[in-house]
Amino acid sequence: MQKPVLRRGRTIWLGRQTPAARYPVLRGHHETEVAIIGGGMTGAMIAEAFSREGVRVAVVEAARIGLGSTAASTALLLQEPDYDLKALSERYGKRIAKQIWISSQDAARDFVDTIRRLKIPCDLTKRDSLYYTLDDGSARQLQRELKRRHKAGLSGKWLDPSALLRASGIHGAGAIRTRGNAQLNPLQACIGLINVAAKRDAAIFEGSTINRIRSVGDGVRLYSANGAIDAKQVVIATGYATRYFRPLAGRFKLRHTYVLATNRINRHARRQLGMGQVMLWDTERPYHYVRWTSDRRLMLGGEDRPVKPGARRRLQFAAATGELRDYFERLYPALADVGIDIAWEGLFAMTPDGLPYIGPHRWYPRHAFALGYGGNGMTFAALAARILVEQWRGVASPDHALFAFNR
Ligand SMILES: Cc1cc2nc3c(=O)[nH]c(=O)nc-3n(C[C@H](O)[C@H](O)[C@H](O)COP(=O)(O)OP(=O)(O)OC[C@H]3O[C@@H](n4cnc5c(N)ncnc54)[C@H](O)[C@@H]3O)c2cc1C
Repeated sequence: MQKPVLRRGRTIWLGRQTPAARYPVLRGHHETEVAIIGGGMTGAMIAEAFSREGVRVAVVEAARIGLGSTAASTALLLQEPDYDLKALSERYGKRIAKQIWISSQDAARDFVDTIRRLKIPCDLTKRDSLYYTLDDGSARQLQRELKRRHKAGLSGKWLDPSALLRASGIHGAGAIRTRGNAQLNPLQACIGLINVAAKRDAAIFEGSTINRIRSVGDGVRLYSANGAIDAKQVVIATGYATRYFRPLAGRFKLRHTYVLATNRINRHARRQLGMGQVMLWDTERPYHYVRWTSDRRLMLGGEDRPVKPGARRRLQFAAATGELRDYFERLYPALADVGIDIAWEGLFAMTPDGLPYIGPHRWYPRHAFALGYGGNGMTFAALAARILVEQWRGVASPDHALFAFNR
């Protein structure tokens, strides 16, 4: 399997140097029940969930735990999938769209509960999110979307332009306010989950790329350069289908996405900005989003672009981060006086419906997949953890089919 480039540049969660490995390289021959490839947020959530069930687990990470796209994440934990209820209803029908939204809502709650129960220190803070628009036509559509959500039993409150201004400092046309979302430090959460699994005797390996998987008896054998693991099942949590799973690659569109983190913002400038303790995202596609950090900076994200190689990538980085800054300065003129501390880019793996692929694939026996995180990877990580544990135990649930490859 090819080692992917998931993130470039220092991010707000990383110090100036790449953290040292905490876990050994895979050497020699090992046996386990479930082997997980990928030590990002998805692999970490799944490892925690299986180890909680008393299942023997091994996690194999090509680089360092959490240093793929997880370390690039702005870590808005949103219960809302990337696609509105309307868009998913048109694609799958009202009943299924409602189930997808409810599963996503439950997964976001599970994520928070897991982090709290395990007392993982990662600045987890509950935050309302505002899904806003600047445009009157879109505001009418957004109001209809909220009605649809209410009809489906989902919560949300309409903010008219003056309520939006009071909550966020934005002169917009309206917003849906959702309670029960959260923000956190994704790298600390990921490492914390892996450490919990390790304490329950999960075997964790870093600096170990799995380059081959073979069926052996009624299980699988995973090979790295220096070692091998026999398992009853392998979970592929590499973000998207790497070259090794070439037939699945067409299901994922890879996009670069960009983030700016400002310097710390003093009280006077915060008052001028007028953004309260909420997380914001807009109705544009690709969307823009912004949230406060615990040390009073803003993280501004969006401007997703197709992946470009070499020098074109660098040019694109400059253009995209410039446009990101322009967008947010139009929204918040006071930002013009606030310096940018760090800018980075990361890789998004988008699926056609914005939903992840979770579960088996008929071409790959004894494999389970948890791929396609889109902009909502943390919520989907919790969803994948629940579904894969249920499938392992043979527990059926109607929502498994919603996220299956053949949906
Ligand atoms: C800029 C940016 C902002 C984002 N913001 C948000 C947000 O606000 N909220 C949100 O929910 N999500 C967000 N995301 C999505 C985010 O990336 C996911 O939430 C989540 O962290 C993805 O976790 P993952 O484990 O699936 O992938 P990754 O963290 O990328 O982990 C995959 C791991 O697999 C490893 N791997 C790959 N191939 C192999 C191999 N052959 N052998 C061994 N290991 C291998 C990689 O090294 C990597 O560490 C954002 C993403 C980006 C890029």
